[in-house]
Amino acid sequence: MTQPIQVEIRARPLARYRELLGPGFDPVLEASISARENLAGKVVWNVNSTARGGGVAEMLHAYLPYVLDSGVDTRWQVLQVTDPDFFVLTKRIHNQLHGDSGDGGPLGQAEREFYMESLADSARRFAAQVSAEDIVILHDPQTAGLIPAVSETGATVIWRCHIGIDDPNEIALGAQGLLGELVGRADGCVFSRQEYVWPGLDPDRASVIPPGIDAFTPKNQSMDVSTRDGVLGVIGLTATRPQTRPVFTRSDGSSGAVSSPATIVQEAPLPESASLVVQVSRWDRLKDHGGLLTLFTRDLKDRDSHLALVGPDSSGVDDDPEGAAVHAALLEQVDSLPEEARARVHLVSLPMEDLDENAFMVNAIQRRADVIVQKSLAEGFGLTVSEGMWKARPMVASRVGGIQDQIEDGKSGILIDRADDLPAFARAIDQLLEDPSRAREIGEAAREKVKSGLLSVQRLILHYQLIDQVSRARRQSSGP
Ligand code: UDP
Repeated sequence: MTQPIQVEIRARPLARYRELLGPGFDPVLEASISARENLAGKVVWNVNSTARGGGVAEMLHAYLPYVLDSGVDTRWQVLQVTDPDFFVLTKRIHNQLHGDSGDGGPLGQAEREFYMESLADSARRFAAQVSAEDIVILHDPQTAGLIPAVSETGATVIWRCHIGIDDPNEIALGAQGLLGELVGRADGCVFSRQEYVWPGLDPDRASVIPPGIDAFTPKNQSMDVSTRDGVLGVIGLTATRPQTRPVFTRSDGSSGAVSSPATIVQEAPLPESASLVVQVSRWDRLKDHGGLLTLFTRDLKDRDSHLALVGPDSSGVDDDPEGAAVHAALLEQVDSLPEEARARVHLVSLPMEDLDENAFMVNAIQRRADVIVQKSLAEGFGLTVSEGMWKARPMVASRVGGIQDQIEDGKSGILIDRADDLPAFARAIDQLLEDPSRAREIGEAAREKVKSGLLSVQRLILHYQLIDQVSRARRQSSGP
């Protein structure tokens, strides 16, 4: 059984975006002011399955503080795990919604019953806190089972799906079928791209809102080179330990310092002068770290550059039961490499005890990269892409899912048409490593692209429009 717990969110000042966005700030501010008026006396709830690790948690941390700052009462609750089989099942649904068979297990009547039973207690306890005026946004497959209980409270229910596939195959359609009846009972559904809208859903109830990043969090805040190098020294990626601990600004505005080492599998630390290729991702098969490792050690012409595969400490992401196995398989792959290749590979697991510190470590590694890769086989949106682009890094990424909505091929990054085309990834990485001025140009265009529309606060306009539209439709359908 699972029971939701509250995640603490603190307001962050929206006004800090005024200078960054220039005239683009005005519509964000206007939307926030009207939201405060329209949503007075109501609570906007968010429920998902983890407060740490992964894109949904990242996205909620990136925009809810600004919703609070607008004066809207918003709250975030997380399903509490007690039965690990529940997350084995929801990870299967996750993979299958991406069109991948995942662990190969079934999604039939027995699984649906287990899914609903596992959520029954949380659904009841969560619904008891909700009032009929409220708006409830349920994120991803783990929470869809809460829809009936929340609907009964009279609240407006929105289901937001962060996973999808452009051309759904049989596997994806099967997983949609499993949740279809539940999702059809929500007042509105949100997908990260138009192509992801499920064919069986009422199109009038479906909207598209991609997630976005916050430029000021520890993950994305600016950092000078000596701080960056200090962080890499503290975590142990490079050999030079800094004299003083590198400092950063925490999400709540207080000051933090990086002090924890990472768990790194490497023959030797990264040489200061080496070129670095990086991928940051959860340890998830669909992120295809293994493919990147293969092409890096087999197909890349550049034999001097290093590769860092970076992810959370595998015990660190609550709703992802596959992380440890994916990491173990990578370890085996690294072990089997010839010595020359192994010497250029760094498998980095970042500590997750202090999320701000973890985020600042990711930030430093992304800034140290000469090229950032996102070799995903499937991707909902891919916030790591916006994160790399914001740091003006040239990205090489698969042309899958929401990655295509971020990178304009050849301009603000390089898209590889087929995610399994390893030599094409190697060629693109080689070209960027060989041509630093082109790499710089692409990186700068990437940063501009983020500024022009990939930030979480820019999505607030769509977020408030959605709430308004869905609540209005609900009032109309339920009559006077
Ligand atoms: N991430 C992190 N620490 C890590 C590894 C990853 O904070 O050690 C973050 C990463 O920076 C990004 C998120 O996890 O913000 C992953 O989101 P994305 O949308 O790329 O993929 P998802 O995990 O949702 O599939």
